[in-house]
Amino acid sequence: MVKVLKHYINGNWAESSDSEKMDIINPATREVIARAPKGTREETEEAIKIAKTTFESGVWSCQSPQERAAVLLQIADKLQENVDVLTDLEVENNGKTRREAQSDAEEAAATFRYYASLLNMPKGQVYEASDDMQTLIVKEPMGVAGLIVPWNFPLLMSVWKIAPALAAGNSILLKPAEITPLTAVKVFELMDQTDLPKGAANLILGTGSVVGQTIAESHDVDVVSFTGSTEVGRRIMQAATGNLKKVSLELGGKSPNIIFDDADLETAVDYALFGIFMGSGQVCSSGSRVLVQEGIYDTFVERYVEKAKGIRVGPGNDEHSQMGAIVSEKHFESILDYIRIGKEEGATLALGGNRIEKNGLEKGFFIEPTVFTHVTSDMRIVREEIFGPVVAIQKFKDEEEAIKIANDTDFGLAGAVFSTDQNKAMRVIKKVRAGITWVNAYHLTNVQAPWGGYKQSGIGRSLSTYGLEEYQETKQININLDPKPIHWFE
Ligand code: NAD
Repeated sequence: MVKVLKHYINGNWAESSDSEKMDIINPATREVIARAPKGTREETEEAIKIAKTTFESGVWSCQSPQERAAVLLQIADKLQENVDVLTDLEVENNGKTRREAQSDAEEAAATFRYYASLLNMPKGQVYEASDDMQTLIVKEPMGVAGLIVPWNFPLLMSVWKIAPALAAGNSILLKPAEITPLTAVKVFELMDQTDLPKGAANLILGTGSVVGQTIAESHDVDVVSFTGSTEVGRRIMQAATGNLKKVSLELGGKSPNIIFDDADLETAVDYALFGIFMGSGQVCSSGSRVLVQEGIYDTFVERYVEKAKGIRVGPGNDEHSQMGAIVSEKHFESILDYIRIGKEEGATLALGGNRIEKNGLEKGFFIEPTVFTHVTSDMRIVREEIFGPVVAIQKFKDEEEAIKIANDTDFGLAGAVFSTDQNKAMRVIKKVRAGITWVNAYHLTNVQAPWGGYKQSGIGRSLSTYGLEEYQETKQININLDPKPIHWFE
């Protein structure tokens, strides 16, 4: 029996009024694993109304930080107890490997725990404006938070938004990507088993053009937090102008991974593989442009290709698989198109470039790890986000040229430098115009550090204390300690 999913509004599971359903597919097998409703504009507006009424009632927004923290910890415990279930659902719906999905599920629980811990910290500021005047700076919830997430980390991206938005005292409405709703539905099932008040967290399934657009346009939504493509981010920003709601955007990238002649070769090769092939390259911060200094370019490429050849591609639920499926047929075709473009542009295809059609993988959306070398900065495969297991390895002469090539992009999400000369590594990483960077590492990060991009990679930050502030208003309260007339008009 294929599970039929529902919306979750005001603490109830609700059928959609629209009888049309979307098939949810396992990308490793093309099997239909669930059917999801296409939320309507009216249903989305209804959920926003519930979130607003709940916010105004104070049942969540006026709870003390300690009370809210206790509920967040209950949610963290539920997620932790269900790590295996969440892992299985993510593997089945997104196509990633169990190892990746499990790490996401563990991090999801840790994210709730982290925001619970922040609520128990002292907060606010006091200024002595004068002897008689004190100013308190306090943080308050904003109201209704609309949360729109992509398909590449369906669980983690949902939680990166739900946890801080609830911690701040907002009511929320989550819209998962239409093709990957399973783990988000599970999170709501788990939150339903905690003391979170009804109406504080709502879920509407459906398309971006209807549900997402309604959230972005609504005058009753006070903050919209979006993770997804730069193109849709731009549309959301325009839609948000109606009530000038706060907009937080985590967008795409084309991140440079700079490898100097003096880098430890094995470490650099290893992280450069991890940087692009983890998640089959469907990761916003992927190191999709590897820049290698000319002295080691040929040696690096030879070693890189040799190791990339050994990556075992397969279904996420097979423990031998190291790289999983591409999430959907549409995206799979788009990656194959880019590979064709790369060849036409004259890049050298050093490895891969094909869909995999053997050992049962022909049923799903699998692409070989693909390596282009001898690329130039004007090529589309170097300029545009492919969002797949496709890397472009480019040559540079010196420090100055590395920085110039690294920053020659509209994006600014992530970047890395590999060198055994710490001074050089620091000089270069400071010049890379990106929000998430590494020295002699890639992809490793934690919930305490702010996540977000420069330039067209976004506005605002997720995670850390900055991530909480995205969902808060800041107020000054000026207190007169010696109230008496000011005699201004005398
Ligand atoms: P997408 O932009 O197509 O969709 C993201 C979400 O927006 C989905 O839920 C979709 O339904 C919704 N949406 C689509 N049109 C909308 C509209 N008009 N109004 C409101 N919502 C709408 O992105 P995707 O293909 O799901 O994800 C891939 C992209 O996400 C990549 O560009 C990737 O770099 C980016 N991403 C960024 C980060 C980050 O932290 N910066 C993290 C993950 C993914």
